[in-house]
Amino acid sequence: MSTKILPEGDVRQELSNDGDHERFAHYADKHKITESLVTGTPVRAICGKIWVPSRDPSKYPVCPECKEIYAGLPKGGPGKGE
Ligand SMILES: [Zn+2]
Repeated sequence: MSTKILPEGDVRQELSNDGDHERFAHYADKHKITESLVTGTPVRAICGKIWVPSRDPSKYPVCPECKEIYAGLPKGGPGKGE
């Protein structure tokens, strides 16, 4: 009788502790996002939050912090990816 059963409630609580940023679409390095979609590894957004990008970011509102940072970034010029 040593079998341990993890209560389902605990797991759910842990997941909900991830925070609100899971409900936003963040800006991050395109290559990292592409990689994350394959590997499932979380990436760091430009706002500093670690999140797992969704395959369908249009479902989520853009993170206001990312939006602000992105708007303040110097433009590298047309045609430049970085
Ligand atoms: Zn963000």
